[in-house]
Amino acid sequence: MIVVGAGIAGLATALRLAPLPVRVLTAGALRENTATAWAQGGIAAALGHDDAPALHQADTEAAGVGLVDPAVARAVTAAAPECLAQLEQWGARFDRTPQGDWALGLEGAHRRRRVVHVGGDGSGVAILNALIQQVRSTPSITVSENTPVNGLLADAGGVHGVRLAEGALPGRAVVLATGGLSGLYAETTNPLGAVGAGIAMAARAGAGVTDAEFVQFHPTAMAVGRDPMPLATEALRGEGATLVNGAGERLMADTPGGDLAARDVIARRIHAALAAGDRVYLDGRRAIGSAFAERYPSVHAACRAAGIDPATQLIPIRPAAHYHMGGIAVDDRGRTDLPGLWACGEVACTGLHGANRLASNSLLEGLVFARWIAEDIAASPVRSVADAGDGPTPPTATVPTAPWVAPWIRALMSRSVGVVRDNDGLARAIDALSAVAFDRDDPQRDHALTALLVATAAQRRCESRGGHLRRDFAHTQSPPPARQALTLAALCPQPPATHEPLVAAGGPVR
Ligand SMILES: Cc1cc2nc3c(=O)[nH]c(=O)nc-3n(C[C@H](O)[C@H](O)[C@H](O)COP(=O)(O)OP(=O)(O)OC[C@H]3O[C@@H](n4cnc5c(N)ncnc54)[C@H](O)[C@@H]3O)c2cc1C
Repeated sequence: MIVVGAGIAGLATALRLAPLPVRVLTAGALRENTATAWAQGGIAAALGHDDAPALHQADTEAAGVGLVDPAVARAVTAAAPECLAQLEQWGARFDRTPQGDWALGLEGAHRRRRVVHVGGDGSGVAILNALIQQVRSTPSITVSENTPVNGLLADAGGVHGVRLAEGALPGRAVVLATGGLSGLYAETTNPLGAVGAGIAMAARAGAGVTDAEFVQFHPTAMAVGRDPMPLATEALRGEGATLVNGAGERLMADTPGGDLAARDVIARRIHAALAAGDRVYLDGRRAIGSAFAERYPSVHAACRAAGIDPATQLIPIRPAAHYHMGGIAVDDRGRTDLPGLWACGEVACTGLHGANRLASNSLLEGLVFARWIAEDIAASPVRSVADAGDGPTPPTATVPTAPWVAPWIRALMSRSVGVVRDNDGLARAIDALSAVAFDRDDPQRDHALTALLVATAAQRRCESRGGHLRRDFAHTQSPPPARQALTLAALCPQPPATHEPLVAAGGPVR
């Protein structure tokens, strides 16, 4: 079994598969280039005395603006407490109250306190460290660091392994857990290795990609001249921090939900203020004040590095690409359209997030689906991999994929496929990206392909909903237009002969 990626999704899948033998491949060193290590808020679960999975499900569906799959939301929120208990058994130590109860944080669009955290805003790295330690003491798991995967070994029978720089690695099951794609944007909170590699690989092998247009722009990335931009966690607003404009006036005072409205609502409001020439700040002086360093050490350190004392000064912020709701289409077991291929974590589209992710639901999704994928693989009939490579696998490109995204793609994505979109900008982006995505000699081709999937889906959705705002289609349609499943064939039905051959279209949206 092969797992590609060593964030929460990849490592939890490998642990759940034990004692079955698993090889985890990761592009860099462990911890490097994982969004998991950067997570601040924590993991959402209905653990409070006033809470229930059904309430968590309802909040998830409300945030997703009509496109959340209710069955998936029900199952994930119900599985959350067990998965957190498992995470504790693996060594994660969540913050507790002096009475020994869970210390539950409040985040935007949650109607209850339900976010468990570790070390204030250091949740991600603490959880990842626990997983890494557990993986290292699990004999069935082998980790290969500094091993980027370039593509899948696929034929009409499905996926039989992965392509590495040094050759092919066969495997009877491949789980893609390569994380998100927000590093495709010039303004991002993600590690720069979050380039949607798994989406490009899966699409080239023929898998469907769903909801690609829905990118979440986090409203409070810190505008302090760093790339990627440090995040000021939403938990700060949960504790009373407010958004103010250049004149010191409350920005969200007249909006339902105020400073804790859904992320898309706040990001649009901030984007409009900035576009009008105003400045926007997060004000934690009264609500957090001198407790910043102790309660939010990551935010405090990022502020101090920029010469800001958040206890006494405002934090300049702006929206930045943060999370991809779309991804490789999977069913309720994490199976893709292709036999032998599963996808877990941010790279997958399960239907949990719809048009907008509820805060702290993504670590949860990776954790829960890791369990279901492992159970599914363990129960799947053993496929022979002896034939891997015998069939018509896609040809190897002549140059390896570049590890980083070209600045022109990042600038294009922020400008034309960003917080506010319109047909002209999207059409220009699609033209520019198509020229690269199907050129097998261009090291940017996979980045361009993933970006092209987002831009194409955005052009086809002629309405505004959640993370997708169209200047030229400002309304939200009722009932919602169907979720979109794109395949490579749909993007470029008649490629020039010199371009990479296309693989048959994937199945319907699930
Ligand atoms: C600043 C920040 C704060 C966040 N806070 C929260 C939060 O509080 N709560 C929450 O639920 N979510 C949060 N999120 C989102 C959440 O962290 C991510 O969605 C989640 O960690 C994704 O986990 P993953 O395992 O899918 O991917 P990642 O953790 O990103 O791991 C991806 C792995 O894939 C590897 N990889 C990528 N490409 C290749 C390749 N070609 N070959 C081999 N390996 C490859 C990478 O090296 C890495 O090991 C936050 C995100 C950010 C950026």
